Amino acid sequence: MDQERVWDAVVIGGGPAGLMAAGELAAQGHSVLLVEAKPSLGRKFLMAGKSGLNLTKDEPLAQLLPHFGAAAEAMAPMISAFDATAIQDWARGLGQVLFTGSTGRVFPEKMKASPLLRAWLGQLDGLGVTQRTRWRWTGWRGADLCFDTPEGARLIKARSTVLALGGASWSRLGSDGGWSDILAAQDLSLEPFKPANAGLLVDWSAHMQGQYGQPVKGVKWQAGSIASRGEAVISARGLEGGGIYTVSAAVRDGADLRVDLLPDLSGVEITKRLARPRGKASLANHLRRSLKLGAARTALLQEFGRPLPQDPASLATLIKALPVNHAGLRPMDEAISTAGGLKWSELTPGLMLVKRPGTFCAGEMLDWESPTGGYLLTGCFATGRWAGQGAARYLATQ
Ligand SMILES: Cc1cc2nc3c(=O)[nH]c(=O)nc-3n(C[C@H](O)[C@H](O)[C@H](O)COP(=O)(O)OP(=O)(O)OC[C@H]3O[C@@H](n4cnc5c(N)ncnc54)[C@H](O)[C@@H]3O)c2cc1C
Repeated sequence: MDQERVWDAVVIGGGPAGLMAAGELAAQGHSVLLVEAKPSLGRKFLMAGKSGLNLTKDEPLAQLLPHFGAAAEAMAPMISAFDATAIQDWARGLGQVLFTGSTGRVFPEKMKASPLLRAWLGQLDGLGVTQRTRWRWTGWRGADLCFDTPEGARLIKARSTVLALGGASWSRLGSDGGWSDILAAQDLSLEPFKPANAGLLVDWSAHMQGQYGQPVKGVKWQAGSIASRGEAVISARGLEGGGIYTVSAAVRDGADLRVDLLPDLSGVEITKRLARPRGKASLANHLRRSLKLGAARTALLQEFGRPLPQDPASLATLIKALPVNHAGLRPMDEAISTAGGLKWSELTPGLMLVKRPGTFCAGEMLDWESPTGGYLLTGCFATGRWAGQGAARYLATQ
């Protein structure tokens, strides 16, 4: 039956961008087929819920947009049409009670994605969106869309298509970047994928074993012009967490990473405290008493700074800019998100492929990156909605 029908819109990819596009199209009365390669929808979205589901950052547009870097200009109309306030209204409309943390990050009170996803899928169902899971899009044959399905190969006809195929990390959740070969074969330009918001690999000495699992708080990470006061966790493989993710793009692009272990004290003040008589105390005890560094920060100082300089001024300089010796970022598949993807030059301002009218693209598959903090989902929601609206406008002209 699917093979004979002509759908108004086929949305491929059941992540937040695809769900948003499907909802926009269906709300305007179009017949929508939503197709997903995995056995269920929104797997990465559910994974994002494991860390609390940071939906957006409650910031005015002027503060929000620069976090999208080089893509900020292209994404500005989309994000201004569905900004942090609109996202919160939308989530509340789906029955979610939200709260905003002290840094402006917005979360559902339940700190997970499943209630929101359930309500969202229920809404799409009510709008008449038809779903197919375990259907993998494999490309086009002429104007038709080709899928591998449990029942074999299928061709589907659509008046418009939205591709929302995700980035290239956490492939086990579906975002494997396999679609890039299909688009490249269509002569579409892609920026190579790179890890974004990734942890750091560190070959720790045996001294660090006692610190595994310990948080590193109250520091400032600095890579090139990017600084972060976020936390990190010492793990057996290296350093993880928001503080590291924020600087990971700069590290990836070649900047040295340093950490200021006492960002709220000046070098002069640290020198003064270190110069106090030490008596018989070991250096570790002296550091603990005079600077209150704590175990994790002291361990990092020893690990990256040994042999520690004895004179207070040199030691203070080291504490303010300790080089973090690492072995690069964790592999791309383990990154929270990926940079790279379909180039903006292939798209109209309405997110339609210039070379393939009627086909729209959205979400992490586009060439943008942003730090964690709710910006990733904000970008996915906003571009998904924009692509869905673009497809609906396109249908109206046909
Ligand atoms: C551990 C973790 C925590 C995160 N936490 C947050 C957070 O708190 N806040 C935040 O803003 N962001 C967070 N993110 C990032 C966020 O989840 C992603 O940026 C977002 O899910 C991307 O949405 P998308 O719709 O573009 O793609 P995806 O969610 O990746 O969805 C793409 C879908 O397309 C399907 N697909 C791919 N190829 C095909 C094909 N050929 N045929 C059919 N279907 C296909 C995939 O199976 C997948 O379901 C987190 C990510 C991870 C991994």
